[in-house]
Amino acid sequence: MGLWSSAEFDNHEQVCFFSDEETGLKAIVAIHSTARGPAAGGTRFKAYESEEAALDDALRLSRAMSYKSALAGLPVGGGKSVIMGDPARIKTRPLLHAYGRFIDRIGQTYATGEDVGMSVADIETVNEVTPFVGGTSAGAGDPSVHTAIGIVHGLRAVLKWQFERDDFAGVKVAVQGLGAVGWGVAERIHAEGARLVVSDIRKDQVERAVERFGATVAPIDKIHEAEVDIYAPCALGGVITEATANEVRARAVAGAANNQLATPEAGATLARRGILFAPDYVLNAGGIISGLEATNGMPGRSKVDFPSLEESLAQIHDRLTQIFERAAAEGRPPEVAAEEMARELIGR
Ligand code: NAD
Repeated sequence: MGLWSSAEFDNHEQVCFFSDEETGLKAIVAIHSTARGPAAGGTRFKAYESEEAALDDALRLSRAMSYKSALAGLPVGGGKSVIMGDPARIKTRPLLHAYGRFIDRIGQTYATGEDVGMSVADIETVNEVTPFVGGTSAGAGDPSVHTAIGIVHGLRAVLKWQFERDDFAGVKVAVQGLGAVGWGVAERIHAEGARLVVSDIRKDQVERAVERFGATVAPIDKIHEAEVDIYAPCALGGVITEATANEVRARAVAGAANNQLATPEAGATLARRGILFAPDYVLNAGGIISGLEATNGMPGRSKVDFPSLEESLAQIHDRLTQIFERAAAEGRPPEVAAEEMARELIGR
């Protein structure tokens, strides 16, 4: 199948292929939409199985950024970059500088930040040669803190919609993955009275959660089956397959991990079983929201009025509620309603 007609392509406005022989840089920047403003999206540095896999990832992720920013109500578009190769082997300062010089050429339509395989320090190295970078330590700080706060706002919308309650007291939540975001969520909802079931491949984190939160521990491969009210995947994507969707005992699935639904059928299975799914890219938008202020004042760009960070994070609650309402009215899963709403917002 040709590129323009592939499902992933979805009328991307621009796709750039950059290479620098001297440093071995091979990068793809995909810009899905600038309908709401210049595109923003992180840089993923990863050893891909093939060039096609890298391109697909860039296209898929940049479309997701269009949706995420549009549903967060932000005046920015969606884009994403991938740098191909094993970061542990090929990431060097000259390579990051070569990458930055390419980003500089397209800075009126795209700005980047961190993602898998790129640290804040790496992004600061890119920033030495181009201003079109967000998420440096001079900005809003660790995005995972804002992601966790946004998720708690989203969980409140889930509580209201599915459980008709306003507070976490006695609500049982299974948190899969106690990393930067999962721990932040666990800490916040524990403080409001939630009872936690946890899992992580890191034993030390699990032990800390037992000590600090009195959490119950679930086996790594069984936490999705925990007898809880809400299952919050905060580790990996793809955890909801048709098989696991049939095993979930919670009445809602709502967490931080990107791309939790392995297939559309997995989402349909949850919906059929009356389990509410909170679309991950709506719930976990706090990180990108916190980095966007940095795009204001970038050279040559007009200044836009961003809502305050607190307002934007709180909006996750209202947006999720709108999505649940629309899904219920149309008799469709929330992720389908969310995608439609996002496409309307970007004029597609
Ligand atoms: P992280 O690397 O800090 O934490 C992930 C945690 O999951 C680690 O503690 C890891 O040990 C654990 N883990 C790995 N495999 C596991 C398994 N099989 N079972 C249980 N635990 C396992 O990452 P993070 O920043 O907390 O992000 C978590 C998820 O949220 C990721 O999917 C990420 O893409 C997504 N997300 C993060 C942000 C952000 O701001 N950090 C924003 C949006 C989405």
